[in-house]
Amino acid sequence: MVELNDDKVLYAFSSALDPVLTVPSGETVRIRTKDCFGNQLAGPEDELDEIDWDAINPATGPIYVEGAVVGGALKVSIDAIEFDGHACSCTGQDEGVYGDRLDGWSTRFYRIEDGELIWDENVRIPLNPMIGVIGVAPAGEPVNCGTPGAHGGNMDNTAITEGATLYFPVEADGALFGLGDMHAVMGDGEVSVSGAEAPGWATVTLTAIPDLHLVDPVIEDADSFGIIASADSLDAAADRAVHEMVELMVERADISAPDAVMLLSLVGNVQVCQMVDPQKTVRFMVPKRVLEGIGFTWSR
Ligand code: CA
Ligand code: ZN
Repeated sequence: MVELNDDKVLYAFSSALDPVLTVPSGETVRIRTKDCFGNQLAGPEDELDEIDWDAINPATGPIYVEGAVVGGALKVSIDAIEFDGHACSCTGQDEGVYGDRLDGWSTRFYRIEDGELIWDENVRIPLNPMIGVIGVAPAGEPVNCGTPGAHGGNMDNTAITEGATLYFPVEADGALFGLGDMHAVMGDGEVSVSGAEAPGWATVTLTAIPDLHLVDPVIEDADSFGIIASADSLDAAADRAVHEMVELMVERADISAPDAVMLLSLVGNVQVCQMVDPQKTVRFMVPKRVLEGIGFTWSR
């Protein structure tokens, strides 16, 4: 296993960046991550309107993975997520779903204790650790770390947690992988515009799959297989994810498109990742046992 500290971060995923680390395919990397504010909020005395907004949403990286080629995929297994013991969240004017009714910024600071986030003496919230920003260099122009897309990025997906495996379409040699913006707790939608933002460590295993061509990120866990799609609206993101899932099923199983759609209508779940970033993100999750039953092959 290799360890990577957070000295070198990227603020936009880009094929033009120089890697901060090169690893062979199959390497496990323990990666130090700053919170989405670049660790600039230490306590209630720090105001959000005084921080350096050019230093928000850092992702640690990029990491060059040997064997990752344009047109192929990068497999990322999430092995572990660890937090330092504190977190913070925010909302503000014109931010999130309710920002139209707010003035200025509001922040809260939390302790993490025994697997729970302490909201106050009455409300302790079990952690659902997740990685908000995770992805590879996109095709074309750089994409800032606040925006999700086909390359991954700021997907803010609660399913991106320990035990999950992601597959990204590779658009630059070596993939140029990065991650950051971990959340100790977040609800689907991320309605305030932030989760419980927490610095920590993510341990991932990075494997190049040269012969797997993808349009959008794929996610897999013990029970489910799904597509993650981002677009201007939740409707458009869901539409995109469902179309890709049908096409994958027709390609990889002996099933017609109408049958695939009818089957997905019975067992597929459209789930909101986030509705507050410049592009909105949805995941479309399908039980693996159903896919196995129609002979869908994926095992990688
Ligand atoms: Ca985020
Ligand atoms: Zn975040």
